[in-house]
Amino acid sequence: MKIGMIGLGAMGLPIAKCLLKAGYELHAFDLAEKARQEIKKEGASVYQAAGDIGLEADIIMSSLPNASIVESVINEITGRDELRADTWLDLSSIAPASAAAFAGRLKEKGISYMDCPVSGGVQGAVQGTLTVMAGGPDETFEKVTEILETIGKKIYHVGGVGAGSGIKMVNNFMLGCNMAAAAEALVMGSRLGLDLDTMYEIIRNSSGRSFIIENKIPNFIQKRNFSGGFAIDLQYKDLGLAMETAKALSMPVHMGSTAVQMFETARAKGYGRDDITALVKMEEELMDVEVK
Ligand code: NAD
Repeated sequence: MKIGMIGLGAMGLPIAKCLLKAGYELHAFDLAEKARQEIKKEGASVYQAAGDIGLEADIIMSSLPNASIVESVINEITGRDELRADTWLDLSSIAPASAAAFAGRLKEKGISYMDCPVSGGVQGAVQGTLTVMAGGPDETFEKVTEILETIGKKIYHVGGVGAGSGIKMVNNFMLGCNMAAAAEALVMGSRLGLDLDTMYEIIRNSSGRSFIIENKIPNFIQKRNFSGGFAIDLQYKDLGLAMETAKALSMPVHMGSTAVQMFETARAKGYGRDDITALVKMEEELMDVEVK
């Protein structure tokens, strides 16, 4: 089975490495030369344009920053006269409506599209333990289950096209709100003189616990390492998808709107490429205290 991987960033590169390790023939493309060279070293064939991937691979996988980039790659691939691929697994976090539009466009070219967003962060991608939320036809899901099991530990077929993106959007809506609340609460604790180790130990065993407490405190906040991980810019995009959806549903979203403003502030302060835990740094600056 020949797999094409487009987008070799924080998630795409380790996912591509898992596929190679499992023995798949990999054809890869990223705009960044450095990423192309890194996956080439691991044994993948690399190309100078996304369009070439559609000619080489049976199944295309994409892990790209947003829907407009996914769309441009789809246009480039389907714009070629010849096409080998008949399946597309999009791991990017996008809106359900975008997934539905892409599925329709690709179907016209004989390609079955599934939205397969993932959760579990860079660590999950490196270890091949991601949670995968797939939306699309049953027969396509059956065909690709083994591939998805290579990159993830929990694989869910949640419904038709768009269903995977829907559940991912709901999850990341909560993640963004949890991160925003944790940043304020931890900085408040520090202003009260509480140390981080104590807050971590007690909250992870109490009702305030969350992924932020259990994963982000030890891996980022305690280490004072706010880079890598899940970028503020990407979380901001995901909250934006939830806000657009809320608007379409005429649904007030007070928590989400406040979280959006906190992430917007972090971006304005230059933290856009940092991990979402950089919200802690932002709150520390505001309150002149260090969470330690
Ligand atoms: P990233 O910014 O690290 O990587 C994106 C990659 O896409 C980059 O290497 C970039 O060069 C490449 N790229 C951009 N435009 C391209 C194009 N036209 N053609 C080919 N390559 C192109 O992003 P990431 O963190 O790897 O996230 C990828 C997707 O996965 C996003 O949709 C994100 O929301 C989602 N996601 C990320 C995480 C995480 O923890 N980082 C977790 C779950 C889901």
